[in-house]
Amino acid sequence: MKILVINCGSSSLKYQLLNMENEEVLAKGLVERIGIEGSRVKHKAVGKEEVIIEEAMEDHRRALELVLNALVDPEHGVIESMDEIGAVGHRVVHGGEKFSSSTIIDDEVLKAIYDCIELAPLHNPPNIMGIEACRQLMPNTPMVAVFDTAFHQTIPPANYMYPLPYELYEKYGIRKYGFHGTSHKYVALRAAEMVHRPIETLNIVTCHLGNGASVCAIQGGKSIETSMGFTPLEGLAMGTRSGDVDPAVIPFIMEKENMSFEEVNEMLNKKSGVLGLSGISSDFRDLEEAAAKGNKRAQLAIDVFCNRVKKYIGAYAALMCHIDVLVFTAGIGENSISIREKICEGLDCISIRLDKELNKVRGKEAILTKDLTSTQILVIPTNEELMIARDTLELVSK
Ligand code: AMP
Repeated sequence: MKILVINCGSSSLKYQLLNMENEEVLAKGLVERIGIEGSRVKHKAVGKEEVIIEEAMEDHRRALELVLNALVDPEHGVIESMDEIGAVGHRVVHGGEKFSSSTIIDDEVLKAIYDCIELAPLHNPPNIMGIEACRQLMPNTPMVAVFDTAFHQTIPPANYMYPLPYELYEKYGIRKYGFHGTSHKYVALRAAEMVHRPIETLNIVTCHLGNGASVCAIQGGKSIETSMGFTPLEGLAMGTRSGDVDPAVIPFIMEKENMSFEEVNEMLNKKSGVLGLSGISSDFRDLEEAAAKGNKRAQLAIDVFCNRVKKYIGAYAALMCHIDVLVFTAGIGENSISIREKICEGLDCISIRLDKELNKVRGKEAILTKDLTSTQILVIPTNEELMIARDTLELVSK
């Protein structure tokens, strides 16, 4: 079966068409600037040159129409007709407490995703636009929603509750939900394969270190704790997001800087993290270059980032007694040799011993430990699209 995977942002749409016989990507692309001047589709079919289709697109429906046209195009396409697409898998950011796994989309499910808008006002609305556009253009094709939050629904209350008045949880669902679930799940499953052990027997810590970053503790294949919370702002220091800060800092800044709630929210999400600390960039390539030239604030940003990851790894070792496998994934985790080294430095005490020679690897699967009795440290490039396509295939085949 061929499965189309869709990931919609407010003005963008990423897609991949996969042949699930052999899990090969047949075509992939990105639509940018939907509803804004200068919109375009970047489309790449396997074995063919990338094409850029520049055309005005007023909404996600028009964007999807152009994607489907590109997929069936005699020159740039990979299928003869849309009927070859057996199902569509949609990435949906927030499934609240309602969804603990992926699900076939019907009217009731769509309504439940609408109900989660309050929890993810920036993310769920574009996800819904993508689903509705597909339902209009492909009314007979089954669709599946794969939630970023679903994998973390196994986290126990002792880990997901905030010590706030309990009524706030009952009234508004204020608790930790966690994100990047599809990525954490994919790399954990792959890690078990790489160390040749059933996932049910393993304690795994997965570090998804990209522009957004989170760590997850996975016991017996189930998420039991993660660093992101009610929103993707909690936890690690990220590209532009602050991660954990003392909540008392917020009213203090609002008063001192005469800032509104919206301004503080924007500062915490878009102007903080390693960008805010360094004043240079949110990109670790820029930070590493600046730090190597002696820029102290770039070095400070790197140090804060690495120490946070290290502290979460230590906390999760305490929660699970010991860590069998530590996984690095996403842009920084897959590519930065020095950040991986710095995070693992001094973690001998919890059996984490990175081999510096084996660590000289970028963007591909690798095992970074020689000593088989200590924690196995792995690099695994994440593949959320494949995970979405697998879940979709499983549900529509039932
Ligand atoms: P992601 O959000 O997973 O796409 O990760 C994007 C981030 O990965 C970028 O902002 C960089 O900080 C980081 N990154 C990508 N390539 C490298 C590299 N070769 N060295 C260090 N960091 C990298």
